[in-house]
Amino acid sequence: MSLHIGNCQAEPGEKHNGMLEVGEHDPKLPLTLVCGKEEGPTVLVSSGIHGAEYIGIQAAMELSREIEPKDIKGNLIFLLVANPSACRDFVRFAVPEDGKNLNRMFPGKKDGSLSERIAYTMVKELYPKADYFLDMHAGDTSERVMPFLYFPGGAGEDVAEASKNMAKAADMAVRARSGSLIGACGCAGAHGIPSLLLERGGGGVFTREEVELYKQDIRNILIHLHVLEGEEIHTVSQREVNKAAYIEADTEGFWYPALNAGDQFSSGTFLGEIRDIWGDLKKAYYGEYDGIILYQTVGMGIKEGDPLVAYGMLEEEN
Ligand SMILES: [Zn+2]
Repeated sequence: MSLHIGNCQAEPGEKHNGMLEVGEHDPKLPLTLVCGKEEGPTVLVSSGIHGAEYIGIQAAMELSREIEPKDIKGNLIFLLVANPSACRDFVRFAVPEDGKNLNRMFPGKKDGSLSERIAYTMVKELYPKADYFLDMHAGDTSERVMPFLYFPGGAGEDVAEASKNMAKAADMAVRARSGSLIGACGCAGAHGIPSLLLERGGGGVFTREEVELYKQDIRNILIHLHVLEGEEIHTVSQREVNKAAYIEADTEGFWYPALNAGDQFSSGTFLGEIRDIWGDLKKAYYGEYDGIILYQTVGMGIKEGDPLVAYGMLEEEN
């Protein structure tokens, strides 16, 4: 089945690069289409919705170059950088042109600001072609994450179950249900597309090892979907968190986290503190239940309302 998106077209057995137009004067979004000779599902892989989450972008770019049409049954659509200005300018969370978080702008607006127009373009041009959707994130420049993934839990149990089965194919130790419908993943779920938001690394940096692990997560999922052939590689067993806490700063100041992403702790454990410039304690934070740190801010300067720590409660091991 041939693919035609933006100015990019690929016939069975072909791979082509092209650009997806948003608005007439907006940045164009880079695409790679890989069209398998044999029939199969179409998987949309996006990265760079948060443009400085570079490990996701690097892993997607490498996969788009490495996977050839002869390797797959079905199609792959790579949207390589959804937020190009942030990628270029090392801007965390936001689309620089409008200051909005693209991953809270779905399903977007045709005549909205740039974030809303990018979201609208993805929903209109890419979602109708996709049977499955993988959205590759990372900790942003101020964050570190443990490798984990979100699956959409707010769009019906069929989509949640199919997404969860896909999540299990990734070599990541934790998955979490997300009720959000305003991110790319949750919105795709609401369109009936089994979807995942993947997280690995962060801080605006990455190692070769992290990129290779991230690529293997995607390869595992593509093998699970029978798009790629081969054996999934698993080095960790996966558990679900059945509730999560998102601590935000009550005050501005200097943030000193006590633990690291991926650390497990018991209820009442000290998680970090905010001090003022003279070193006086402004606020200390403690875990409310036994948990695991999914991600946390590692940038020192923070303002009121900034995210500090996200942690989850692990389900019982069975
Ligand atoms: Zn992100």
